[in-house]
Amino acid sequence: MRFVTDRMLGKLSRWLRLFGYDTLEIKKQENEDDALLALAEKGGRILVSRDRVLVRKAIKRGIRTYLVQSPEIMEQLREMQGEFGISIEPQLSRCTLCNSVIRKVKPEEMELVRAKDYVYPDRLEEGTDFWLCDNCGQVYWQGKHWGNIMERAERLRKWKMEKRHQ
Ligand SMILES: [Zn+2]
Repeated sequence: MRFVTDRMLGKLSRWLRLFGYDTLEIKKQENEDDALLALAEKGGRILVSRDRVLVRKAIKRGIRTYLVQSPEIMEQLREMQGEFGISIEPQLSRCTLCNSVIRKVKPEEMELVRAKDYVYPDRLEEGTDFWLCDNCGQVYWQGKHWGNIMERAERLRKWKMEKRHQ
């Protein structure tokens, strides 16, 4: 499953990428609807949107689409679970910023990591594993924020189980 989302769903895009899903978004531009529809059509992507008019256009063109109901991210993720059965497994496989596939940093490449001002020096000393996006240069690791991510994922999985048993 691959997705393309509208600009109202930036947070959702990042979460989908975190779960490993190839998810494109577009910059603000003229004829934004057409650009989104073309991306969905060409790439066989599911169009995910909060825009009723856009969704109607997509349906007319035979594009698989989903109209997101909630403005709240956890609710949106539940909607995606309900609609597409997406897997809620956080992984370091895709850049959450640009959607490119990321890779593990090799020991001889640690200079790349050191050069980032958002990587604390104590992280480097602890022998933390790092991942790199070759496209935009973003560096990732399983820091404190990773605990929060896992906690949210756990909540989502629990919700799914409870729903199944109702
Ligand atoms: Zn990137």
